[in-house]
Amino acid sequence: MINKDMYTLGSKRSVIRELFEFGKKRIQEVGADKVYDFSLGNPNVPAPKKVNETITKIIREEDSTLIHGYTSAQGDAGTRKAIADSINQRFNAGVTENSIYMTCGAAASLCISLRALNEGADEFVIFAPYFPEYQVFIKSCGGVPVTVPFTEPDFQIDFDAFEKALSPKTKAVIINSPNNPCGVIYSEETIKKLTSLLQKYSLKYGKQIFIISDEPYRELVYDNTEVPYLMNYYDNTIVCYSYSKSLSLPGERIGYIAVSPKAESAGDIYAAVCGAGRALGYVCAPSLFQKVVKECLNEKPDIDAYRQNRDLLYNSLKEMGYNCVHPDGAFYLFVKALENDANKFADRAKEYGLLLVPGDDFAAPGYVRIAYCVSYDMIKRSMPAFKELIDSYNK
Ligand code: PLP
Repeated sequence: MINKDMYTLGSKRSVIRELFEFGKKRIQEVGADKVYDFSLGNPNVPAPKKVNETITKIIREEDSTLIHGYTSAQGDAGTRKAIADSINQRFNAGVTENSIYMTCGAAASLCISLRALNEGADEFVIFAPYFPEYQVFIKSCGGVPVTVPFTEPDFQIDFDAFEKALSPKTKAVIINSPNNPCGVIYSEETIKKLTSLLQKYSLKYGKQIFIISDEPYRELVYDNTEVPYLMNYYDNTIVCYSYSKSLSLPGERIGYIAVSPKAESAGDIYAAVCGAGRALGYVCAPSLFQKVVKECLNEKPDIDAYRQNRDLLYNSLKEMGYNCVHPDGAFYLFVKALENDANKFADRAKEYGLLLVPGDDFAAPGYVRIAYCVSYDMIKRSMPAFKELIDSYNK
């Protein structure tokens, strides 16, 4: 027979994917100009020019067996060293190539880190609103997700609830800032409060509690907002990074794990990361793209394009009367639904061609997510639909 949990996961599409498929069908029925698909977090900004130039150069100039061959299980030593140097240049974190494990994107980074830490039904704290796959990743490594609600209207951490969520079984907390789905960045004050509570509870329970910092959106930040580098605030930190959004390479599956050298028993944690990578079959991340990112570590996404999208969407929807969370990073806008049930609201939005993701799976019922990594032109064309939608509630 088969594993029932895996069958359920594989046969039920996520709400986001469902909506995306609906959009494709709808385009065939009514035409692309009448469907405004804000469902997926697939960057519309192309990868920086240097990425394609580097791919071409590598393919032209390097030995093909090496380009497409295996690297070390944890990744090419030269790439890991270049990444470590770049982290140290930016954040002075003291990492070395032996702190870095190359992965197939943030999803793999998270699965490996969770597997490396979980000792059997350990608890992993996640902060709403969160990336829905956290539930899947934590449960599939045998852990138990514990959700902490957010504060309104600033979408920072509800610290009273956080303290109640900590227990002798807590193994780690997952932080995602800039955040998917709401675009909020945790302030330095929030990070300091969080880390001092973790220190207090690590002492109280006589154990290491880890921070897993899920950072695919680190480079997608507006108005020079600071994103605190967690290793500089808390020793027992594991960073899960990805180039999916920062270099617009989601389909190439490339990222890394960085274990803080200041973590207690950092070498053992790194060994457990290597072991978890092995156990999961996540060894030797794509070789060509390990080479590519090594040469493109200083490349930046075209943040102006996303900023223009954000400003148009946020300002226009606010003006129409929608209640929106101001995004300082990532490419998502979180909007309060105009009725209690965000699923019903999203269904009504569909009638106007607007594909918005209900917040329930992000643990934020009553909100919808708008992914604005789409063309500026589509956002502009969608404005009358948003106006008709709100008018339909005000009648
Ligand atoms: N974490 C968050 C918060 C995300 O939004 C995503 C993707 O959208 C991931 C992890 C997975 O990223 P990757 O495509 O690099 O595996």
